[in-house]
Amino acid sequence: MANERRVLSVASECVPLIKTGGLADVVGALPAALAAVGWEMRVLLPAYRSLRAHLTDMAEVWSDQDLFGGQGTVYFGVLHGLEVYLLDAPHLYDRPGGPYAGPDGDWADNAMRFAALSWVGAAIARDGIQGWKPEVLHAHDWQAGFAPAYLTYSGSGGACSVLTIHNIAFQGWAPASMIENLRLPSEQFYPGALEYYGGISSLKAGLVTADRITTVSPNYAAELMRVEFGMGLQGVIAARAEVVSGILNGVDEAVWSPQEEPISYSVQSMKGKAANREALCEELGLSAPHGPLAILVSRLTDQKGIDLLAGVIPEFVASGGALAVLGSGDPSLEAALRGLVAAYPGKVSVTIGYDEALSHRFFAGGDAVLVPSRFEPCGLTQMYGLRYGTVPVVSAVGGLADTVIHASPAAMAAGVATGIVFHPVDAIALGQALRALTQLYSNPKEWAKVQKNAMRQDVGWAGSALAYAQLYEGLVK
Ligand code: ADP
Repeated sequence: MANERRVLSVASECVPLIKTGGLADVVGALPAALAAVGWEMRVLLPAYRSLRAHLTDMAEVWSDQDLFGGQGTVYFGVLHGLEVYLLDAPHLYDRPGGPYAGPDGDWADNAMRFAALSWVGAAIARDGIQGWKPEVLHAHDWQAGFAPAYLTYSGSGGACSVLTIHNIAFQGWAPASMIENLRLPSEQFYPGALEYYGGISSLKAGLVTADRITTVSPNYAAELMRVEFGMGLQGVIAARAEVVSGILNGVDEAVWSPQEEPISYSVQSMKGKAANREALCEELGLSAPHGPLAILVSRLTDQKGIDLLAGVIPEFVASGGALAVLGSGDPSLEAALRGLVAAYPGKVSVTIGYDEALSHRFFAGGDAVLVPSRFEPCGLTQMYGLRYGTVPVVSAVGGLADTVIHASPAAMAAGVATGIVFHPVDAIALGQALRALTQLYSNPKEWAKVQKNAMRQDVGWAGSALAYAQLYEGLVK
């Protein structure tokens, strides 16, 4: 059946083409999930140097000689099963390094680079492109934040816009003097519109102009209106509360499935989990603990609460637990973790680096996954934990609070507990959570119940895709 509805996704990353973080997973997963509910989603991405090889297999569908200082050409093709528009603008994107930074750090002209992407996104939404006209433009994060603004200020051609916040920490700032170079109307430079602390923020521009605002969990949507989480934009978001909502990310259930692991297991037959645990301990040089084997797979940054571990791991290890960490990031956090390995050999293991295959073995072999984040828009690792019966121990923030049910006596009695949730995000509460974990683990019957509840939870994309489809349909009506 041909899809009747059309949506253009404008983003800077998309799995499997280009990824630096969770944004890419969402942008890459949505087209297939939405196709199942009647929406055709095409994705507009910059043709970074690493993507230029694809251009030869694609058709030229649009061009402009003056796209923010150089030639811009849009190519269309199907890449890895995704319908993709690549914006080729060599003066902006044909550079070494990642999407945002080169060998010497962030590109100085990032505001311009992603304004161009947003400009072209708005043009496609407004005018259509070779007979394909989207009804909705879906912009992701600060990189696409100007797209709803361009639609609002230069005519939308009937297209509606949605802006999704994946992480409020990145806001796309530019000096006020650039307003005309960014092709924005200077009369809109006031606090109720484009002005942001004396400059311009592409994220704010999107927040004040998009028809709908979403973020990647309902709880993060509420948190963003508060000063502790809004990072300066709380007032802007609260002012638009009526159009703000949260839609949880899903995980790819084909990729994240204990049944597909080399030593496979399932909710019906958990035997393989013990074998995975044994293999992981051996691989990491840990002596198999009689308490829980806790894992942590994460960027090592302040956001993720990694600094709290030093205060709580000594007691956890003394009571029989073990810890295995896979991550990389802040050198001081890496050093603190190495200190734990030195103090507790055979009980704490730290692998510095990014290794997707190893992360699967962590989830298959771990008993519990720790996610002590200070803020977490949605979070993926607690959802992998649920899928794998690797009981999540999470702080009560953002999407973590939306996806894990604390094993309180009432939740245990009702048969709905899926993990351990703690609050506030400090070493005292995390220490208590680890005590609760050790106690729960020591009761095999209760432990098995929590694992089973977790594994039965739906964390796939189907429900989220339906929620996006309903949002779009509400707009188009
Ligand atoms: P964020 O996007 O803030 O980093 P998420 O939990 O939303 O946090 O997503 C992080 C993703 O990156 C997950 O898929 C996680 O498994 C993966 N990841 C993080 N660090 C590593 C690592 N060192 N090795 C392998 N995968 C990692």
